[in-house]
Amino acid sequence: METYDALLASITPVSGETRTILDPATGQPVGEAPVHTVQDLEEAIAAAQAAQPAWAALGHDARSAALLKAADAVERSAEELARLLSREQGKPLNGPNARFEVGACAAWLRAAAATALEPETVVDDGETRAELHYKPIGVVGAIGPWNWPMMITVWQVAPALRMGNAVVVKPSEFTPLSVLALVEILNQELPEGLLTAVSGGREVGARLAEHPAIGKIMFTGSTATGKAIIKSSADTVKRLTLELGGNDAGIVLPDADPKAIAEGLFWGAFINTGQTCAALKRLYVHDAIYDAVCEELTSVARSMPMGNGLDEANVLGPLQNRQQFEIVAALVEAARDSGARILLGGNPAPDQPGHFYPATLVADIDNSNPLVAEEQFGPALPIIRYSNVDEAVAMANALDVGLGASVWSADPAAARKVAGRIEAGTVWINKHGAVDPRVPFGGAKQSGYGLEFGVEGLKALGVPQVING
Ligand code: NAD
Repeated sequence: METYDALLASITPVSGETRTILDPATGQPVGEAPVHTVQDLEEAIAAAQAAQPAWAALGHDARSAALLKAADAVERSAEELARLLSREQGKPLNGPNARFEVGACAAWLRAAAATALEPETVVDDGETRAELHYKPIGVVGAIGPWNWPMMITVWQVAPALRMGNAVVVKPSEFTPLSVLALVEILNQELPEGLLTAVSGGREVGARLAEHPAIGKIMFTGSTATGKAIIKSSADTVKRLTLELGGNDAGIVLPDADPKAIAEGLFWGAFINTGQTCAALKRLYVHDAIYDAVCEELTSVARSMPMGNGLDEANVLGPLQNRQQFEIVAALVEAARDSGARILLGGNPAPDQPGHFYPATLVADIDNSNPLVAEEQFGPALPIIRYSNVDEAVAMANALDVGLGASVWSADPAAARKVAGRIEAGTVWINKHGAVDPRVPFGGAKQSGYGLEFGVEGLKALGVPQVING
């Protein structure tokens, strides 16, 4: 699209019911989102069913070529997409935020195009020749959250398309415009009906999850909704990839250099103003360096400007919605009331038009405090003191979620040993939350099941078939 206004106009409905989306930084309108219904969903699924066989018949090379062109289309409209994302989601243009997210969309499209998935000969011993192939599933449903709406949509859509499927996307009610705009741009390079975004509420998501024509649901969102999807998909035995909530622990070993790790710790926790599934949400620091880590982290956090995302100076933004603001505020207040020490933040400006909650660090907090035990999903990091590594590992493993985790140390080999003891889908060493389209990503325990990215991610969007002759 040539301009921001043209992009917005391309997704503004000309008829039907609409809902005004407000900018979380200012409370001002961003645009009108269609309120799609279950009937709209039925039409999108029918169009997807009609378009899918020809798309599957194109083969891997032609589909990969289309995904590369779609990546180019995203890059041509990158600035307009980033601006819309910033206005609707709240994340700043600058920093690891809106431009970064749009860049990731192009990168993941290209990676899905470039990853090879050849049939595998499993046994060939002269008597048996068994080959493992992956066939298209058919129509895939993609249900996503509001925190990284464009990037997560691409994570779901790119491998699904690459494997020969059609996709119906159900964006979060909080961020429909970003996803509608992204899909509009992708559709510049895709056949009609193959990819549709249906911007409705929970009832549309629930119908998608039980619909007999949907072969698989790619879901990213809360653990509670993931459980509802497992139930509603049971009657049709749908395949599921569930990327659910997390409450990632970071363990700082006593030999770490507080100054050297402070910025990595900060972005591990505060990327997207803390509204990130695999962000550092509980930091366990050894007693020997506890005060130094608190001091260095406070100094880094204090230097990070928060404000309207369209201002290039800012790297932290508002919370996306009032509910999330209230959750973070209540957890920090409860921590303060319990006697924990607020090192920074904790006092949002009253009566502001936006949902800004300051970057908040909470020290001397008990491991059982709700700010530690619950997913705060915002810019508030509890820092818990420990005195031996076994105790830290036990605390890290004590919850029923396990998406990511990290270990911080001057000795990567020692850190790796500790990493192997942590119950999480990914354990990073001296970084946290760094995702890569070549590296599989998924949760342990109630953070979900199924892997995304890389060749494992492609396999998850196919139906395995063994040819045994
Ligand atoms: P949410 O579960 O409230 O909503 C996600 C989506 O599910 C929305 O589109 C919603 O409309 C839809 N939905 C709601 N009820 C449904 C139902 N019964 N059936 C089908 N669909 C339904 O999640 P959210 O608040 O948008 O996102 C925040 C959560 O997502 C956090 O817990 C976060 O950790 C998690 N998350 C996880 C990952 C990951 O990769 N594991 C990534 C991002 C976010």
